[in-house]
Amino acid sequence: MTAPAIYSRASWGAREPTFLVDLYWSDVAVAHYNGSTDPSYTPGDFNSEAAAVRRTQNFHMDGRGWSDIAYSFMISQSGNVFEGRGWGRRTAAQGSSEGNDRGHALYFMLGGNTVPSDEAKASFMYLVSTMPIIPSPYENPPPNGLEVPGRDMWLNGHKDWKSTACPGEVYPWLQSREWENELMFGFETQAQADWAIKLVKALTDPDYSSGLHEGLPTHPNSSEGRRD
Ligand SMILES: [Zn+2]
Repeated sequence: MTAPAIYSRASWGAREPTFLVDLYWSDVAVAHYNGSTDPSYTPGDFNSEAAAVRRTQNFHMDGRGWSDIAYSFMISQSGNVFEGRGWGRRTAAQGSSEGNDRGHALYFMLGGNTVPSDEAKASFMYLVSTMPIIPSPYENPPPNGLEVPGRDMWLNGHKDWKSTACPGEVYPWLQSREWENELMFGFETQAQADWAIKLVKALTDPDYSSGLHEGLPTHPNSSEGRRD
């Protein structure tokens, strides 16, 4: 996985927020979508994508009366990422105080029955893999939280916090846990990330046969410390 293009607020022409609130904790990433219809834009056409993001910001600020676009980041079907409130700012998107207190809001720019593209899913996982984690004082995992291997955090969807169809067809993909294979763990290459995923599984699941040592250089004292 390579890092997606992440466009700053200045680059998409964001309005200034009317106020900002710091997010004190960060241990869940909540997926969102646009609602019953797809937002209107051409994936991969930056000007078209940026215009769609500005329309959403205008709606949230002028229509809803919120301080800014509600989301932390917005993800186009092209995989392009647009900075919303960014990391470390409380969102208005999750539909519950706890959700807003402890979670970042990641918005897929799609609606209705549209399924997320591979590019959008990869960008979502890049954000999940790089989200700063601050354990929250809440005793319980977030509702229906899907534990992220190797990270002290969970994923869930807007509908896990309140009654809504959001995040549409993103939700079954979350439930499938197919995204596990796209976690990055801060490594440079997919091969390194794959190795880290195997390591976490080997350490947490005694029945898991990792094949962990395949392809690794042999240590001069390779009889030392082997588990298998
Ligand atoms: Zn939502």
